[in-house]
Amino acid sequence: MIQSTLLITTYREAPRDADTVSQQLMLRAGMIQKVAAGIYDYLPLALRAIRKFERIVREELDRDGCQELLMPIVQPKELWEESGRWQFYGKELLRLHDRKDAEFCLGPTHEEVVTDVVRRHVKSYKQLPMNLYQIQTKFRDEIRPRFGLMRGREFLMKDGYSFHATNEDADRGYWQMFEAYSRIFRRLGVHFRPVEADSGAIGGSFTHEFHVLAGSGEDAILSCDACEYTSNVEKTAAPKLPYPYADEPVLPLQREHFQTPGIVATEAQVRAFRDADHPDGLPLDHATKCYVYRATRGDRTWDAVVVLRADHEPNPAKIRAVLEADGLDLMPIEEAERMAGARSGFIGPIGLDLPIYVDASLEGAHNLTCGGNRDGAHHFGFKPDRDLPTLAGFFDLRLAREGDACVRCGVGTYQAFRGIEVGQVFKLGTKYSKPMACVFLDEAGQEQPMIMGCYGIGITRTIAAVLEQNYDEDGIIWPWAVAPFHVHVLSLDGGKADIADAAAEAERALEAAGFDVLRDDRPGLSPGVKFKDADLLGMPLRVVVGAKGLKDGVVELRDRRTKYVWKEPPSELVAAVRAFAEKASREDAKIAKD
Ligand code: ATP
Ligand code: MG
Repeated sequence: MIQSTLLITTYREAPRDADTVSQQLMLRAGMIQKVAAGIYDYLPLALRAIRKFERIVREELDRDGCQELLMPIVQPKELWEESGRWQFYGKELLRLHDRKDAEFCLGPTHEEVVTDVVRRHVKSYKQLPMNLYQIQTKFRDEIRPRFGLMRGREFLMKDGYSFHATNEDADRGYWQMFEAYSRIFRRLGVHFRPVEADSGAIGGSFTHEFHVLAGSGEDAILSCDACEYTSNVEKTAAPKLPYPYADEPVLPLQREHFQTPGIVATEAQVRAFRDADHPDGLPLDHATKCYVYRATRGDRTWDAVVVLRADHEPNPAKIRAVLEADGLDLMPIEEAERMAGARSGFIGPIGLDLPIYVDASLEGAHNLTCGGNRDGAHHFGFKPDRDLPTLAGFFDLRLAREGDACVRCGVGTYQAFRGIEVGQVFKLGTKYSKPMACVFLDEAGQEQPMIMGCYGIGITRTIAAVLEQNYDEDGIIWPWAVAPFHVHVLSLDGGKADIADAAAEAERALEAAGFDVLRDDRPGLSPGVKFKDADLLGMPLRVVVGAKGLKDGVVELRDRRTKYVWKEPPSELVAAVRAFAEKASREDAKIAKD
């Protein structure tokens, strides 16, 4: 393909509001352009990479017998009422009316529609299992669309759904997709990890996310340095820490034992509090902090108190799970202050008439401090298992952190990474099949709900994630598998027909051999400009056809990643590119394994 007529404009600088590398590079390389917040045009270069990734996805899924279909983006309210999600899906669901005033939404995901497809066609266990997928536009009215394709409002997703007659078969189907996803991301040549994750509001019994590791990732991941345990920090089990002051004599609760000067007690103020026992200041693992949450489930709303060691952070996903809630928010601060009768820094659990959930690392602890529910006051000598009449129990409620001992193997410690969630596999169970009556007759002729799984890959987000790992100061470095073009032929002809012809011939020969070739035939541009653009666009291999080389009977090849340069006679070009392609694919596979 010739560059002079291809829709690409390159830019020296990225717009100032582009704050991730992938977004900057895609804008500078003329791959995408913003139409509205979180809504982009995918220009030809981006679309070529997207299509290549889609091909990988299709090949790997089709190998496992998954069937592709295409469902509508516009979905009727009635289906979402059947699953119960019309009410509970928040503002991310973009709702609209048609001319007859019927209500619809733009599909953020397709569980309802696919369950409706299957219940109409599948009646018997003999038709199961079934695995259906599509690659399609999704719309989620994200509160903060950002980072270009990484968190868009409109984006491409591969979503797949499986239906099974038995729980065992659903597990088998889940692990089959887990393997398929591993193959897909391995072929991309990116560092990735499957990560145990929280099943969140979508429900379901277990789930893994696939993360591309990148400093700009929005998710925190903890991985044991001794065993395989890798999980999203939302889910990571935190070890129960021994109470460091177990040897201190147990004191009675000392109400309002110390006054904290100022209006709001910050952690720093608590830390600075000195008394006879702690002349250097009260250590934070001797202090507690307290959060008041508002939980919802269906129509029910209730409040609960969570108490943690002052140097620990609450984990909302764990708290939600322990409370068995669908939704969880902090109680609005004014309301919490009114209820406790104190400013936020002085709110404590003692005297609050609510169920109190205490973090496991405080089990057996004593002589703690806690807010005194009076401005300027803290209690001392707090012992949760003695002083809380409404104690609901001790649970793992905190965020695990780097350096914590691994709960799975007990040997290693957690290391922290950041990741971009590019895919997720869920075992859904009967969350949709039951309310939507997606049933089949089993071997005994009994009607049963199907057991479901669902499996997503963010197609456009993955392309952005690939770039987060593959660039240098000059621009993009495409992995072979999704490079918009494999070879970028630069015609340094300066208007000379013989050089332009030789470049065109190189393109023709390489295309005939099955490679995707972009030929920079743009007239009137200096070699420097063409080199710079080629580096920015980042095709894996550059081939320079110029006067000097042709005189010596060679063209010059350059590996974009290593910058290694070598020469070949034109007659050997195809063989050289073949050898390069094999090496590049092998190296991509190695990257994914490391
Ligand atoms: P996130 O936690 O990042 O909001 P999610 O867990 O809600 O994502 P899923 O419902 O699991 O997303 O969707 C499947 C895949 O779709 C995700 O793994 C991700 O790769 C992609 N995806 C989700 N939301 C977006 C978005 N706003 N923009 C681009 N891709 C997205
Ligand atoms: Mg997800």
